[in-house]
Amino acid sequence: MTVVPPRKSLGQNFLTDENIVSRIVRSAALTKDDTVIEIGPGQGILTRDLAEAAGSVIAIELDERLVRHLRETLGGLPNLRVVSGDALAFPYESLPGRVKVVANLPYYISTPIITKLLDAHDKISSMILMLQKEVAERITASPGGRDYGYMSVMVQFHAQAESLFVVPKQAFTPIPKVDSAVVRLSLRDAPAGVSDPAFFERVVSASFSKRRKTLKNSLKNSVVMPPDKFGLMMARLLEAGIDPSRRAETLSLPEFVMMTEILFENRGL
Ligand code: SAM
Repeated sequence: MTVVPPRKSLGQNFLTDENIVSRIVRSAALTKDDTVIEIGPGQGILTRDLAEAAGSVIAIELDERLVRHLRETLGGLPNLRVVSGDALAFPYESLPGRVKVVANLPYYISTPIITKLLDAHDKISSMILMLQKEVAERITASPGGRDYGYMSVMVQFHAQAESLFVVPKQAFTPIPKVDSAVVRLSLRDAPAGVSDPAFFERVVSASFSKRRKTLKNSLKNSVVMPPDKFGLMMARLLEAGIDPSRRAETLSLPEFVMMTEILFENRGL
């Protein structure tokens, strides 16, 4: 049963399975000291349990019809604030302390919202996210596999990423086309030591820019490579044990960090 006709364009597939709701809330290991940010509360199936387990909940919903419904049905909960608006525009950086994010995400914004939340990594201690199964597989992938790419490295740079469980499409109404999976991201207090995190992102992005090409080919003429330093950089990588004729998808996170530091230190020589 849905209280409003679902809007496909807003990724509205509502969870109906109470057992999955309990598993998601348990996975967040909430206490009364926790503030939870819920993105896309929808009809509030997770929201009530989150408010029961946490100290406070901020639930951000874009659809005004659902905001009204949430305020009518859950407005009595003193520790719940329903925010009407776009979760992509919420100022996570200005939160007073570290929060836990729990969300059955609207899949059309999974990548930008995860990127935005990782940008605010100082303000988030963990995230329990329901995602399209393929996206969950990419985020938790290990080097060498077909799912390992830019998103795997960028997420794992900021967080330890674990896949918790798969949720079949029948657990939602309307039934979506794809299965889902729940992942836990435990944010690192200090992401693996790089001198300049923005440069790290550019290196990872350049490395994966030409799928199935060698690092050498991907990095050549890229924004992280001064043309006159190319030979020197390749030599330094080789000395450090990173063969530039490898492909980006074979590099571990520590190797990406090491490569970034080599490129960073030698870029102005
Ligand atoms: N949490 C509910 C549940 O589990 O049944 C709803 C999940 S549904 C997959 C995604 C929800 O995100 C919808 O309620 C949708 O309206 C909302 N939404 C979509 N885009 C949003 C955005 N940019 N910011 C905040 N909420 C959004």
